[in-house]
Amino acid sequence: MLRDLFRKQKKYATIPSEQVKKEIPEGIMQKCPKCRTILITKELEKNLKVCKACGYHFPMTAWERIESLVDSGCFIEYDADLQSADPLEFPGYQGKLKKDMEKSNLNEAIVTGEGNMGGYPVVLGVMDSRFRMGSMGSVVGEKIARAAERAILKKYPFILFCASGGARMQEGILSLMQMAKTSAALEKLHRNHVLFVSVLTHPTTGGVSASFASLGDINIAEPGALIGFAGRRVIEQTVRQKLPDDFQTAEFLLKHGQLDQVVPRSDMRETLIRILDFHADRREA
Ligand SMILES: [Zn+2]
Repeated sequence: MLRDLFRKQKKYATIPSEQVKKEIPEGIMQKCPKCRTILITKELEKNLKVCKACGYHFPMTAWERIESLVDSGCFIEYDADLQSADPLEFPGYQGKLKKDMEKSNLNEAIVTGEGNMGGYPVVLGVMDSRFRMGSMGSVVGEKIARAAERAILKKYPFILFCASGGARMQEGILSLMQMAKTSAALEKLHRNHVLFVSVLTHPTTGGVSASFASLGDINIAEPGALIGFAGRRVIEQTVRQKLPDDFQTAEFLLKHGQLDQVVPRSDMRETLIRILDFHADRREA
């Protein structure tokens, strides 16, 4: 009896709450993956998708990036209709391409074109990591090579924003060939004295970091971007050494001379315009 008196009686029934899960209404707010601050999506977008609390740079879509860079309403897209074939008939590849096309509203992992920045005409390429993790297949390589050729013809500087997991395994050797192809196209650009600026955003890895992304006359990165060839674990196992915590970050590479500058997104357009201004050909002016 006494035991009954002290028995804890639940006053309320516990109903598994859906509310906890839906704490952050999808679309209206987002949680910063770095500092866990809840951010209002609209404000985040206004701030170029950079966390106000800690400066974390959220990924940008290709079109968001283009809009943040070029003078309003002056972008002409190149080769928008190019689509990947499935030359190796890799199981499931076509379905994945189709899914990513629907999800991203893009035909491939890069948008190329021309526009003005601060009044300076440029050829611009922007990768989109939503499409097959921004991996480089034959279409990505072809679009970059074509953009470089147009830059040579028009004598416009070429600015390329990278965001990529590397080569596209479903295209095998054809994907690896794009490393040589894009590098050759950029060498031609170089020989024609056309400026090439590479901007490495999170993440720039694998065959992309080992080809065009590192070949800029000027190489810039966004803060905190992961940049490297192989993954940390693979390297640690190979060299049998513990790597520093900031290994493969933009800041680490800047310290070791692999980058020229780390530029926060809020300063990116102005910085690029300053570079364009500095390199502008004034002989005709
Ligand atoms: Zn944050």
